[in-house]
Amino acid sequence: MAAAVVELYSEAKPTIGPTIENGFYYDFDDLSITKGDLAKIEEKMRELLKRWAEFTKKEVSAEEASEHFKNNPYKLELINELAKENQKITFYTSGEFTDLCRGGHAENPSKEIAKDSWKLSTVAGAYWRGDEKNKQLTRIYGIAFHTKKALEEYEALMKESEKRDHRKLGKELGLFTFDDDVGPGLPLWLPKGAILIEELEKLAKETENRAGYERVRTPHIAKESMYLRSGHLPYYEDTMFPPMEYEGEKYYLKAMNCPHHHKIYAASGHSYRDLPVRLAEYGTVYRHEKSGELFGLMRVRMLSMNDAHIYCSEDQFADEFRAVNDMYLYYFKLFGIEKYQMRFSTHGPKKLGEKYVDEPALWKKTEDMVRQVLIESKIPYVEVPNEAAFYGPKIDVEVWSAIGREFTLATNQVDFAVARRFGLVYTAASGEEETPLIIHRAPLGTHERFIGFLIEHYAGAFPLWLSPVQAVVLPVSEKHREAAKTALAELRSAGIRAELSDATESLGKRMREVKLKKAPYWLVIGEKDVAAAAATFESRDRGPLGQVSIPEISKTLSTEITARG
Ligand code: ZN
Repeated sequence: MAAAVVELYSEAKPTIGPTIENGFYYDFDDLSITKGDLAKIEEKMRELLKRWAEFTKKEVSAEEASEHFKNNPYKLELINELAKENQKITFYTSGEFTDLCRGGHAENPSKEIAKDSWKLSTVAGAYWRGDEKNKQLTRIYGIAFHTKKALEEYEALMKESEKRDHRKLGKELGLFTFDDDVGPGLPLWLPKGAILIEELEKLAKETENRAGYERVRTPHIAKESMYLRSGHLPYYEDTMFPPMEYEGEKYYLKAMNCPHHHKIYAASGHSYRDLPVRLAEYGTVYRHEKSGELFGLMRVRMLSMNDAHIYCSEDQFADEFRAVNDMYLYYFKLFGIEKYQMRFSTHGPKKLGEKYVDEPALWKKTEDMVRQVLIESKIPYVEVPNEAAFYGPKIDVEVWSAIGREFTLATNQVDFAVARRFGLVYTAASGEEETPLIIHRAPLGTHERFIGFLIEHYAGAFPLWLSPVQAVVLPVSEKHREAAKTALAELRSAGIRAELSDATESLGKRMREVKLKKAPYWLVIGEKDVAAAAATFESRDRGPLGQVSIPEISKTLSTEITARG
């Protein structure tokens, strides 16, 4: 692409162009183009590609490299850095085009790269090296696959995800909104969105009660001293909102629930007989995200997290970790999440005491236990060495939506350092004081991210138990209004979230509206139905169900809701 661009626009200066997931990009200075110019560049690429039979590698000195790129300050900057770090400087040439490049290419592009398995997708602005103090460059994105079929599948997926975009559907279904006066990244949940939240919290509470969790509540602000103790300050200060001064103290909005829970654990004495202690809270945290990085519900400044901390002894760790995994699997099944994976980040033994807490035995023991549980529960996982958190192994949970898009939902962590910083202890059977291990877990992630995921996963057509509106009652005309209101009252008294679609518009128009809003069930009440104290019953997912009595409908829905079918 860079070769084609410089042939077409001789003044354009190529800067950096890496491969990315599903394709590549390249940033250029002195290039002013629009999306409309991409076809021309693609055409030139196809023309060049025919003639490119190889990439020739040449190792060059810094002087030679600088001479070649003397008119390109960006390449010169890169060459200087390579020279400073004593790294090899290599050029690769194909056709007339030479680039500064580390290498890693197709052997014979003209043969290996199908002419129709790639495409240029967009043009965007990008700062040199991502720093907004630098000059803005022109970035061209491309998508590239091995075959034309794979490219087409990817494009179909992108089109489908556009239709399922949580920002678009969130608006159409009346779930959430943002307001300038409230501030960017701070979602306002509308009544229908609040129902989703309440249903998810109900689910979490029921599941966690069964699993022996206890619920706690914590304030949204805390003094600087606590975050210094937890280590969030000064290390994560730039992810937190700036502090407020109050009564001569600095207070911070909480960015993590953990330290608050640790204080609750510390508030009473614990013996080995009380362990594990499992403290749960749908806790709201506040994070400073750059305004340019905010994105719908996916990147926000306020998050409500399905949080809990488990304080246990080393002996209990494997069972506790297994139970946490089982909870994930239960949720995946419930939400029809068929593809998932755990990304298990372990420590790097060479960096003990520097990047990782200096506890070699504990690292080995917990990592072995985590690995063992993952293998036993047959959870697909990948192990990533040297990416653990400072204080223990980390497990990122990745799920794929119904259309195959990946989301990182939550991070689980094992922590064997912070308990000491907070002086958390329990009395062991021996009478000695011991430090508990801590598991941080959040299977449903945050409301914001999880609901964003669910909107895409279900394309807004939520299962009955989760649907903000579960059934719509439609009288055929004004004459049937009273019967419709009676049916509505009966459904509502059974705890079903039913709505009336009043006969002010034609039935056809109202039906279209019901389908657009993705209601799981609707009841049409006409002459025949009034006489039979029934409705013509239809399901979004199963189609027409015929004439059914109102009590029967009420029973069907209640059963399905209770079962979270
Ligand atoms: Zn935590």
